Amino acid sequence: MIDFHAHLDLYPDPNTTVRECVARNIYVLSVTTTPSAWAGTAALTTGAPRIRTALGLHPQIAHERKGELPLFEQLLPRMRYVGEIGLDGGPEYRRHWPDQEQVFSRVLELCARAGGRIMTIHSRRAATPVLDALQARPGAGIAILHWFSGTQKELSRAVDLGCWFSTGPAMLAGEKGRSLVMKMPRDRVLTESDGPFAQVDGRAAWPWDADRAVETLAQIWSQPVNEVRRQLLDNLRRLTKSLA
Ligand SMILES: [Zn+2]
Repeated sequence: MIDFHAHLDLYPDPNTTVRECVARNIYVLSVTTTPSAWAGTAALTTGAPRIRTALGLHPQIAHERKGELPLFEQLLPRMRYVGEIGLDGGPEYRRHWPDQEQVFSRVLELCARAGGRIMTIHSRRAATPVLDALQARPGAGIAILHWFSGTQKELSRAVDLGCWFSTGPAMLAGEKGRSLVMKMPRDRVLTESDGPFAQVDGRAAWPWDADRAVETLAQIWSQPVNEVRRQLLDNLRRLTKSLA
């Protein structure tokens, strides 16, 4: 089971959540929203080799935390995974757009200079500017667009740019999300929960809720669930071997 985008440090009881992920053998990409959160979040998962902690600076708080870019730069050489990063074009964050763009482009520049990273990227209401930024920095690494919600046209541009995608039950609950997934290359798709932000059954998603996406993918792809699981694990292996 794979949850390639979870905020483990933001659950009410992160240690119990981590223990449950370990007990269920889940591969988790534990994302952070600030560089200063990285050390504490990584410490949650010592002795949990299937959980990796990514270094992030979330677009929704870029204006408050841009002062942490030097810490981002300092930690980056030790990192393999970066996120959550990106841009958010929602009306409540629009006035901080210049800060968001400055932080995101600096992060991509640093990743490119470091030789590229595996990046989990937020692009809510900002698919085109995110793709513009990625196109401007092709050396930044492999972009995984999490919970992609752009248009079909933006999706095909993302596919052409080599982007990957992570999708979860919240995204697949809607017709729009399912029709986007239909057009994503199967060998560039992973599952995610985006917990505890994303909702499942009216409550915060757990990392293991990412597994519900497998059955929806099986329907969309007209494939047996076992084959879908194998495909997703193959994808994860290929991804983690890249940029080695
Ligand atoms: Zn997230």
